[in-house]
Amino acid sequence: MSATQPHTTDVLLKAARRAVAGAARVCRYLQSTLDLSAPIRKADESPVTIADFASQAMVVRTLVESLGPIRLVGEESSSHLRNPAHSHALRVALDAVRPHWPGVTTNSFLEALDGGPPSPAPLPTADSPLPSPFWTLDPIDGTKGFLRRQQYSVCLAYVDRGQAVLAALACPNLAQDRSADVAIPDSRGTIYTAAVASPGAIEWTDAGPQTLPRREAAAPPRERPIRICSSVEPSHSSLGRLLAVLRALDRPYELVRLDSQCKYALVARGQADALVRLPGRREVIYHIWDHAPGAAIASAAGCVVSDARGEPLDFGAGASLARNMGVVCAAPWLHGELIRSIQHSNVLPA
Ligand code: AMP
Ligand code: MG
Repeated sequence: MSATQPHTTDVLLKAARRAVAGAARVCRYLQSTLDLSAPIRKADESPVTIADFASQAMVVRTLVESLGPIRLVGEESSSHLRNPAHSHALRVALDAVRPHWPGVTTNSFLEALDGGPPSPAPLPTADSPLPSPFWTLDPIDGTKGFLRRQQYSVCLAYVDRGQAVLAALACPNLAQDRSADVAIPDSRGTIYTAAVASPGAIEWTDAGPQTLPRREAAAPPRERPIRICSSVEPSHSSLGRLLAVLRALDRPYELVRLDSQCKYALVARGQADALVRLPGRREVIYHIWDHAPGAAIASAAGCVVSDARGEPLDFGAGASLARNMGVVCAAPWLHGELIRSIQHSNVLPA
């Protein structure tokens, strides 16, 4: 609890789960109705859709409704939709949220996109340039997966003094069945929640909440192939350097390719053994909303999460993971082996 968010963990968790669940419903609707062949291009050429905006506004609206004013570090903002040239996109977004948000207006929608009504004055600390605590949100992580009608996620975390202390992760197309092919969408989806103050990570499905078993500390037999999550998009990671790291492990391995922070869910629920994100040789910015939610869920399920050098992830350095280099999230028995293999394979930028 804090002066700016006097809420219990249960209240925060419930609000976070409701927020991502409502946003996921709107994303599903828009995924089934939008023309996905022509996404909007941002200034850096990355794609964004009307669903990204609708999802962010829905999450903020639900959090504010439950908790009062919040501080948000979100991936999107209202600037694109405030441009009169994009009034059609704004109308489609409003129509999509209206069934879940009676009385929504253009102003209330755009205000929500920017984080809702002003929150109490920020309290910067010496070690945290971002006022703490705050929420961080990726309204659609894996936009390219969303456009392919495969995996994507709505990712929300509550960050306090550099640590993701609570999270909700909606995976709207991820089958509950661990043996299902992740490339095939299951529109029932799954939601994960976790908080450092309460034990375990919870999986929410049609059947209700279930605490995930903690990831095992003991290694499986060496002949059992390890399963490693990686991106579908070739430009998002260096497959060559990942394979060099995996070969150096001297164990059989399989790659599980899927978009978004659904990768963290797979590792948390034991369907994969690790996700490895090696930093590019070129300057690629890792944002806190791309990792804080998934990392919190996986950690709560007993996984070890660090950067590629084995350092803890620091979500308090700004909107980017400026103090870290890459990400490794793994079952406890595999994490140390992966970090050693990364060191020996010499795949990190000097
Ligand atoms: P994935 O789902 O593994 O494809 O990763 C999705 C994330 O990759 C998005 O959140 C983007 O922020 C990030 N991303 C986008 N372009 C790049 C890139 N060129 N290199 C590394 N990551 C990227
Ligand atoms: Mg993202």
